[in-house]
Amino acid sequence: MKDASPPAAPPLAMLAELTHRCPLSCPYCSNPVELTARQAEMDTADWARIFAEAAALGVLQLHLSGGEPASRPDLAQIVRAAREAGLYTNLITSGIGLNGRRLDELDAAGLDHIQLSLQGTGPEIADRIGGYSGGFARKMQVAAEIARIGFPLTINAVMLRHNLGDLPATLALAADLGARRIEVACVQFQGWALRNRAALQPTLAQVDQAKRVVAEARQTYAGRLAIDFVPPDYFADFPKACMNGWGSTGLNIAPDGKVLPCHAAEIIPGLRFQNARETPLAEIWNGPAFSAFRGTDWLPEPCQSCERREIDFGGCRCQAMALTGNARAVDPVCRRSPFRPEVDRLIAEETSTPAPDFVYRRLDPASR
Ligand code: SF4
Ligand code: SF4
Repeated sequence: MKDASPPAAPPLAMLAELTHRCPLSCPYCSNPVELTARQAEMDTADWARIFAEAAALGVLQLHLSGGEPASRPDLAQIVRAAREAGLYTNLITSGIGLNGRRLDELDAAGLDHIQLSLQGTGPEIADRIGGYSGGFARKMQVAAEIARIGFPLTINAVMLRHNLGDLPATLALAADLGARRIEVACVQFQGWALRNRAALQPTLAQVDQAKRVVAEARQTYAGRLAIDFVPPDYFADFPKACMNGWGSTGLNIAPDGKVLPCHAAEIIPGLRFQNARETPLAEIWNGPAFSAFRGTDWLPEPCQSCERREIDFGGCRCQAMALTGNARAVDPVCRRSPFRPEVDRLIAEETSTPAPDFVYRRLDPASR
């Protein structure tokens, strides 16, 4: 029987994970533990067709991500196809695999914006976190080429126990590189990052200090550098509205064409993910995976009678799954969740001892 509920409002943004291949091995990587193999990746024509469907559905912004999207030799063709579909294009990259020539090609293809990740403010810390020797130097060369061409630039800085103390230097470097915006995001424990949680977990003192640094820097850099700050979930009293609400504004396409309501949704058992190679995007948007946690009707108590239910929609389903084993549970970081004492216990345990070594994901060099 067909679902009688009315079609959902269209999505505004789409994240296209062009590949899971990446030269870096960040311990905070939120990509799944089981990566999509190179052989299973969609080709340029598949992506071009999906971009046209996305634009027809209402998508305005396309984020080209990975893995490292520059690992795809057809990246400029993909950007061109997206622009031809009428989408605003944003490239999310570590910079490794780009150079002046490739950036010129992307410019000619119509790329609108670049988000460049920063693992640290110098080679020692950045290359250690990225697990890639020489990565910082190459990234700085790419940043110079981005400035030469004049791409609007956002710096993505993932902050963790090892680099939160460098936050003032991180902001200064973003400004020096000509970024208009920096997203200072404290690590989210999804995918591979969950394996490194004890190593990455910041301390409460670091988080408090980071909030002070950001507040001051917003005055210092006013009019020059916009600063977004994403505090760590585990230290918050209430969860964030994950994905602005499940199935409300965005969708993710995995490298093999699987369409996910969020990047990490595959950890939730029982959800059936449809594939954009086989099923029209408009049908998938109103299909079972996207409808599973859409809106507020499905919410458990205490969310159902909570005044914040239209603000955070009960938080993150993947976090609930990872920490409680039940994707339908209240996000365990919420102070009203019965699991919150367990989150506090984890923080106390993980921040009271020296950080363990990183566990790096080592891809077969041939698959990069
Ligand atoms: S987080 Fe690091 S390892 Fe993961 S895709 Fe991004 S650059 Fe690659
Ligand atoms: S009880 Fe539910 S709706 Fe209320 S703040 Fe917590 S997670 Fe959000």
